[in-house]
Amino acid sequence: MYQLLDGKQTSIAIKDQIANEVRQYTAKGMRPPHLAAILVGDDGASQTYVANKEKSSHEVGFTSSVYRYSSNTSEEELLRAIEFLNDDDEVDGFIVQLPLPKHINEQNVINAISPDKDVDGFTPINIGRMVLGEDAFLPATPMGVCSILEHYNIETEGKHCVVIGRSNIVGTPVANLLSRNKKGANCTVTLCHSRTRNLPEITRQADILVVAIGKQEFVTADMVKPGAVVIDVGIHRVPDETKKNGYHLAGDVKHSEVDSLCSWVTPVPGGVGPLTIVSLLQNTMKAYRKHMSLN
Ligand code: NAP
Repeated sequence: MYQLLDGKQTSIAIKDQIANEVRQYTAKGMRPPHLAAILVGDDGASQTYVANKEKSSHEVGFTSSVYRYSSNTSEEELLRAIEFLNDDDEVDGFIVQLPLPKHINEQNVINAISPDKDVDGFTPINIGRMVLGEDAFLPATPMGVCSILEHYNIETEGKHCVVIGRSNIVGTPVANLLSRNKKGANCTVTLCHSRTRNLPEITRQADILVVAIGKQEFVTADMVKPGAVVIDVGIHRVPDETKKNGYHLAGDVKHSEVDSLCSWVTPVPGGVGPLTIVSLLQNTMKAYRKHMSLN
């Protein structure tokens, strides 16, 4: 019988720890941590993500602010907004919600964020520090994958971890983090992508299978070794007339046939998703401690 890696419960436990820490500082008269977000345009999913980040920030006692820009904002204007937040002493960390409108070069924007406030862990400096095993802001979703494994004491050392997907924001950093010489890592990692040959043959060797491919229910039972730990990062909105909001969520894994094979598996929703926001809060807490010289 498989067990669920419950991202919601894990996120509640971590948020409680953060809220306690914030209370300790504010009780001493210090200002709370401040997480800001820049939102460009009116993409529905991006608005939902930013609203969720705001809500979670308030839950743990952070100050939260959102800077909204229209979809025809120029790159120069956006770079000026970033400079403003880089220099604002009252802001500990901020994110620029992606994707940005096509006329804006995302990498230019990311490069402009101060590495000390880059709580999404997307700047080349933080990615470089992560790869070198130095202290860094880790990218939120990969950090969430590690957090959920750690929360449930899943043994990773010496395990064969297969990651499907090599994006800069999920697959590649997950592969890096799980292969590091650190507690909660030390896996032997295979990173698969769209040019991988004999994918099912490789995924069937996985003790831990992390799926970040962006294709609905792609991973089927024939791709999973019995007893494997399966982490499904995928999120898809599937039209569903029976739901009030008109859709339900599905992952990159076909849970109806895969779950019964697993020892542990993340559900969708309620798996990696909640941990992504929590990682952002943890990074903001870390930025605050550094900023306020608390460690
Ligand atoms: P992405 O940028 O589209 O990357 C997808 C990766 O999958 C690419 O590396 C691609 O290979 C690989 N791929 C595509 N088709 C494949 C195939 N047939 N066989 C093997 N590999 C294949 O996606 P992403 O941004 O990493 O996101 C992945 C999923 O996670 C999406 O469903 C996204 O919505 C979700 N997500 C969830 C969270 C969360 O908070 N839970 C956060 C971020 C993303 P190539 O490199 O060769 O093209």
